[in-house]
Amino acid sequence: MRFEEVPCESTMLCADKIEMKALINFYLNEASKEDKDKLYSAARHIRDVNDGPRVFLRGLIEFSSFCRNDCFYCGLCSTNRNAVRYRMSAQEILETIEEGYKLGFRSFVLQSGEDPYYFSGRLTEIVSESKRQFPNIAVTLSVGVLDPVLYLELFRAGADRFLLRHETADENHFAKLHDASQHFSLRKESLESMKQIGYQIGAGFMVGSPFQNVDTLTEDFLFLRSLAPHMVGMGPFRPHQDTIFSRFPQGSAEDTLVLTALCRLMLPKVMLPVTTALASCDIKYRTDAFRAGANVMMPCLTPQKYRDSYAIYDGKLSSLSEAAENVVQIKAQILTEGLRAEMSRGDHFDFRD
Ligand code: SAH
Repeated sequence: MRFEEVPCESTMLCADKIEMKALINFYLNEASKEDKDKLYSAARHIRDVNDGPRVFLRGLIEFSSFCRNDCFYCGLCSTNRNAVRYRMSAQEILETIEEGYKLGFRSFVLQSGEDPYYFSGRLTEIVSESKRQFPNIAVTLSVGVLDPVLYLELFRAGADRFLLRHETADENHFAKLHDASQHFSLRKESLESMKQIGYQIGAGFMVGSPFQNVDTLTEDFLFLRSLAPHMVGMGPFRPHQDTIFSRFPQGSAEDTLVLTALCRLMLPKVMLPVTTALASCDIKYRTDAFRAGANVMMPCLTPQKYRDSYAIYDGKLSSLSEAAENVVQIKAQILTEGLRAEMSRGDHFDFRD
């Protein structure tokens, strides 16, 4: 099928499953460079008219590399004996937030493996203490699937947002990527319940993960459309040498740009990060992602001594232009794209005043 017109918001909102699949298939497999350029241009236009030509910066703190799960794609998986495991104490995390605060960050993402060490009160304490010390920051958690009562407890402690990529909305595909204890339905229920509680929620998936195809991507888009999350994280799959997917090819950066743009058209106000996985393929893709409608960047604030140990895939960029200490250069680069760098809390449009 050819598409003479670039899809607009209503095309994306009204498309049934067959139309959505045709659209995704066209842009991934048939579109010319010119078709794609038109798509990117439409996506950045939608971003700019809905929420301004700006990029929201968030400081990323990877505070634990321990994980109870065995996600077959991830270098932190529980079965990887070569993984270097570390945990940051509450004090270290608060000091890192303070460092980011001094650099100007007012939005922080606390990410880790799924590490039960923090679940019996420690994480709640860290969240409430960070909010007590720095009342004007936003705290995003990205710590995996939790006991449902914890979502409420952490929200009450002051957590504003929760990132939990659904990874794939196709149950069969999900089972090929994860150990038997994990299910797509659990992630879906978690996301729905967090939205209900009042979190700004983030879903997402890897592009080019093993066994992904146009059908599974169609399910992803239909799922994202019905969930309407406030953020969507999409980055290319990158193999890690100590996982069973070590020999699978890297996901395509160009496909990531196409799917980013389609997502922007479908959810005009959504927060769409340029992921580190994309920038790790080649730094030039960061600029391309901004041109395809992305509007968030999460520079790494993790203390230097831990950075290499948070190895979810090989060749992960955590220095230079992905490092929070280089925020001045990062802002300058954003400016050269005609965009403004925002270091405020950076709430989703629906959560502002
Ligand atoms: N434990 C948390 C955070 C996981 S890391 C959670 O489960 O939500 C954050 C994201 O990195 C994952 O959701 C996954 O989509 C992505 N990721 C993991 N391994 C990857 C790989 N090999 N290549 C690219 N992205 C990967």
